[in-house]
Amino acid sequence: MQQAGTPLADYPHLYIGGQWVAPVDGEQVESIDPSNGRPWARVAFGGPGDIDAAVAAARAAFPAWSRRPGHERAALLRRLADACERAAPELARLETTDNGRALRETRADIGGHANAWHWYASLADKGSGRTIPIEDSVHAFTTRRPVGVVGAITPWNVPLMAALWKLGPALAAGCTVVLKPAEHTPVTSLELARLFHEAGFPPGVVNVVPGWGAGGAGERLATHPDVAKIAFTGEGETAKAILRAGADTLKRYTFELGGKAPHIVFDDADFDQAMNAATGSAWALCGQSCALGSRVLVQRPVYERAVEEFARRAARVRVGPPLHVESHMGPQAHAQQLAKTLSYVEAGVHEGAELVAGGRRITGGDYDGGYYMQPTVFARVDNRMRIAREEIFGPVAALIPFDEEEEAIALANDSSYGLAAGLWTRDVGRALRVSSRIEAGMVWVNTYRYIRWSTPYGGVKASGWGRENGLEALDAYLDVHTTIISKTGQFADPYAS
Ligand code: NAP
Repeated sequence: MQQAGTPLADYPHLYIGGQWVAPVDGEQVESIDPSNGRPWARVAFGGPGDIDAAVAAARAAFPAWSRRPGHERAALLRRLADACERAAPELARLETTDNGRALRETRADIGGHANAWHWYASLADKGSGRTIPIEDSVHAFTTRRPVGVVGAITPWNVPLMAALWKLGPALAAGCTVVLKPAEHTPVTSLELARLFHEAGFPPGVVNVVPGWGAGGAGERLATHPDVAKIAFTGEGETAKAILRAGADTLKRYTFELGGKAPHIVFDDADFDQAMNAATGSAWALCGQSCALGSRVLVQRPVYERAVEEFARRAARVRVGPPLHVESHMGPQAHAQQLAKTLSYVEAGVHEGAELVAGGRRITGGDYDGGYYMQPTVFARVDNRMRIAREEIFGPVAALIPFDEEEEAIALANDSSYGLAAGLWTRDVGRALRVSSRIEAGMVWVNTYRYIRWSTPYGGVKASGWGRENGLEALDAYLDVHTTIISKTGQFADPYAS
């Protein structure tokens, strides 16, 4: 935890064209440590002019990078992977300081990033096309080409992971990138830039410009005519603003947006395992993850037991300074997010749900000034309540009872979101029936939040467009180019008769 009077960590430069440069029309902004509400770092924020410079650098780097043999791009990505592995403990510490996520979580998450960079390295020479059989007289084939300069815009809950999921496939495909991290969490993206520099990436291939979103660096990226694609993770309303702002430039987009995932527990499930997953996924990241199972649908015969178990386990969660390894849960990432979570607790009580655990900010002693929130459990929630419909992004579980399988499916799908879902049952037929009918990009059966670089990740409905991770991620950064060659060179004169 940052002590009062400790000098601020200084990040005075943006990373543009392989150089560390001061912002031309930006400013120096303090980043807040959410565990105490005090500034802990001073960071350069770029403005539109800095984005213009970064896009120009990325554009200049694109021809050589895109033509570089895939195995050479892979070799550089593998060097980056090794650098990330060495830096992982420090990156975890910095990310925890910047966004308050418990160190035990950031260590586990960032400790695995090297594997993901290696996976993307392995894709760098796999962007192959296909041959298309038509008539004997022609040879038709496709090749795939990187789309160009990518604007990567990331959120504050998982800054490094969101950057990895975009830069990995983009660079493997042969694109160049301008990364704009969230205003609340700029530090680890700049640290990542340092690792790219040390790994020997050519100037301009990766550029990192922290800055404001609306009206600032983010908006300029979204409207820049030389940015071919925006890879965005964040809220749906922001995605719509980005789409509107970029309409005249006809970009490509991938959008990883919010979620309100149903986590269904049938009465034949292994109850203890289901509770491990359901409680863990309700409060992980202090509730600040899009894929968390925040709507827990429990079949009536085991519903009261589940309510008791959630309340019992909420009392066991060690909320504390995020850098302390014994803390399970740190603070919310910023003051507005804490206020938003508390307002949803009020809404839940007002709408008639039963608050069975938590619901309050934690203050006093170590907690003073920090944005700490109790793990919270609502029982007897109706799926029409706001706490069941809207993404809270706080450690709030809403337990909803159901009777029959059909009702569980209907409740699960009665949501504007469709990112992820989980279900627990020992009945294989039911697992297949239910999982095939759930409107979500990902369904976990008898497990939850099993997320790997090799499995496609993304949502349907208001949860977004496109997929990150998996082979599919590469597709989002490649255009298809079709070539048709006549084997005869004969072309009939259309006006001969
Ligand atoms: P956000 O407010 O939408 O911001 C995301 C990014 O967009 C930030 O870098 C932000 O900059 C920038 N931005 C804001 N307005 C912009 C504009 N008009 N033009 C261009 N850029 C703009 O989201 P957040 O609050 O950081 O993150 C939480 C959200 O992310 C939640 O809804 C969560 O579900 C979603 N999320 C989804 C996934 C997924 O994979 N599906 C993963 C993680 C998070 P500023 O920081 O300056 O506002």
